[in-house]
Amino acid sequence: MLTPTSISRPKQYLLHIEWNDKTASTIMLETLRDQCPCAGCQGEEIMGQKVFVGIKMFKPGMNELTALTPVGNYGLQATWGDGHATGIYTWQSLRAICEAHGLSPEQLLVLISKE
Ligand SMILES: [Zn+2]
Repeated sequence: MLTPTSISRPKQYLLHIEWNDKTASTIMLETLRDQCPCAGCQGEEIMGQKVFVGIKMFKPGMNELTALTPVGNYGLQATWGDGHATGIYTWQSLRAICEAHGLSPEQLLVLISKE
């Protein structure tokens, strides 16, 4: 099974994940929050239609990660600065988010050089 071997925060706004298949991903916390897998953020599938139960609005602290809590051995629960904590990222979904939205080494260099 694909699992992270290490998770770190090289920058306040970045999460770096090393996987047990010897690959690594770096993703912006903002992106991770954007991809929050809970029904409130991603909508619920009701009768084959995506229904959004809330409106996505910017809230102070929403892209600041305050805690990552392991859930069993299958994933992580993220707690955000605005108190949102219903999203559970399974290893599989975390990996899929990283593959779709992760930063390339070039993008990382550009980001860091802007500081
Ligand atoms: Zn959510």
